Amino acid sequence: MKPKWQVTHTRWLFVMALLGLAWLGLGQTTPQTKDLQVAGTSLKASVYNGFAFAPLEFASALGLETQVTNDAVVLKQGGKVLRIALADGAYEAATQWTNGLEVNGVRQKSPAAGLGGGRLLIPVKSVAEAAGGTFEESGNTVIVNMPQAILGTVSSDKTERSDRVVLEIDRDVGFSSRIEKSDLIVTLRFTNGTASPYLVGGKFIDVFEVKPVANKLEAKIPLKSSDGFQIFAVASSQGIPARVIIDVGSRFGRPSVALDSRPSVVVLDPGHGGNDLGVVSGNLREKDITLKMAQRIASILAPRGIAMKYTRNEDKDTSIETRQALSVKADVLISLHVSSQPNSSAKGAEIFYLSPDAPSEGILDAGRTALENAKTERERKLLSRFLAPRAASQKLADMISARILAVPNGEARVSSLGSHTALERAPKAAIVLELGYLSNDEDRAALQNTDASVSRAEAVAYAVLEYLGKPVPAAKPEAPK
Ligand SMILES: [Zn+2]
Repeated sequence: MKPKWQVTHTRWLFVMALLGLAWLGLGQTTPQTKDLQVAGTSLKASVYNGFAFAPLEFASALGLETQVTNDAVVLKQGGKVLRIALADGAYEAATQWTNGLEVNGVRQKSPAAGLGGGRLLIPVKSVAEAAGGTFEESGNTVIVNMPQAILGTVSSDKTERSDRVVLEIDRDVGFSSRIEKSDLIVTLRFTNGTASPYLVGGKFIDVFEVKPVANKLEAKIPLKSSDGFQIFAVASSQGIPARVIIDVGSRFGRPSVALDSRPSVVVLDPGHGGNDLGVVSGNLREKDITLKMAQRIASILAPRGIAMKYTRNEDKDTSIETRQALSVKADVLISLHVSSQPNSSAKGAEIFYLSPDAPSEGILDAGRTALENAKTERERKLLSRFLAPRAASQKLADMISARILAVPNGEARVSSLGSHTALERAPKAAIVLELGYLSNDEDRAALQNTDASVSRAEAVAYAVLEYLGKPVPAAKPEAPK
C-alpha cells in the first residue's frame, strides 16, 4: 500500500504497457534459437532479423558488470562503458535500431536491447566485439571468445593518507573484488600476467602480490583492520593502456562486505500485519503476501550464510519503532509491500531507494560516528536522515530490478524517494520493494501463483547475494517453449 510519498510513473507505465504489447506480439512468432558458446559457458541465442540476441548472462560470461536503467542496459568493463538503448521488444531492437550501442559515448552500428520471450535480450555480435571479443557464426552455433589481456606495468605510490597501486592492462577488462580473511583480492577477468610480489613500503600497503589463476589475474593486498579501500578503472584510449587503480587507507570507507568474519545481516520487513491488513482484494491481503514473500526470500538466503532478521515473522501488528530498531543493524534492508491503484492497468514491481542530497563520504563517516554518540532523540533523528548511502541502495535497487526483469513476464522499475520512515534509519543499503499491483489482473495472478512467486523471490535473493559479493547460483535453464 502506498503511503503519501507515492510518486507517479506515468511515463513508465506507458513504456511498460508498450513493452507488454510488444511481448504479446512476439509471442506469436517464435524466433530461431542457436547454441551460444561464450568463453566456456553454454547459453542460447535467439535470432531476430538475422541478429543473435542473448540474455544478460552473456554479458556476465564476458566479465562485464550489468545494470538496467529506465532506457538502457549499461555494461561495464573496467573503465569502458557500453550503453545499449532499450527498445520496446527484441524484434524492434533488431529491425528499427541501427546505432543502438554507445561505447564510451560513441555510437556504434548495432541493434538495441529489448524483451524477447519474456527475457531482456542484448545483441551478441556488437557487444562481443565492443568488449574486445571475437564473434563467429557457423550453422546453428555462435561462438564468442575473449582473448586474454596482458598485465603491463605495475606501479605504486605512497602518501601520508593513502597508498595506491596501479595495474596497467593492454585493454579494458572487467574486475571484481572481495575480502578473504584480512586480504583484499582484486580479480582482473580474462587477464594474464607473471606471478610476482611487489614492494610498496607504504604506511598502508607494505607488499602485495599478483598471480594468474585460471584465465584471471589476482592481486592480493593485505589490509589492516582499520583501513578501507576504493577501486576504480580508467579506460584505455589512443594507445594509453587501461588502468585499474586501488587505493588503500584509513580514510576510505569499509566495503559493504565487512572486514571481520561477521555474517552479513539482511533484515526483511514484511509490510503491515495484525489489524493492519494493507491492500485488500477479495481474499488477498497485503499483510499475508508480504510475509509469505519474506519467508521465501529468507529460505534462499539463510542456507547461504546470511544472518536473517525479520521485523515480523507472523501475523501481528509491528510498530514503526520496532521496524526502525532492527533496520539499524541491516547490511541490507528490504521493506516489502504491494500496490493498488484505481487505474487497473498499472502493473509490475517498483523499487524505491532513499535519495537525500548526497553528502560526501567523509561527512557520512562523521555522521555515523555522531549518530552512535547521539544523546537526544531529536539529534538522532536529524543525523539519521542523512546517513543512508545513496549509491549503495541504488546499486541494490538496480540489481533487484535487473533480475526481476529477467524472469518470465517480470516487470520492474527503480525510483528514488525524498523520505521514508521505514528506510531512514538504515545505515546501509535499504529499499522498499512493491511486489506488484493487486489492482491489476496479471499482477494479482502472479502474486497468487507459486512458480511466479518463487522466481521473483529468487530474483530478489540472488540480487542480494550479488550485492553482498557472495556466490550467486546459476540461473535455471529456460523451460522449452
Ligand atoms: Zn503497504
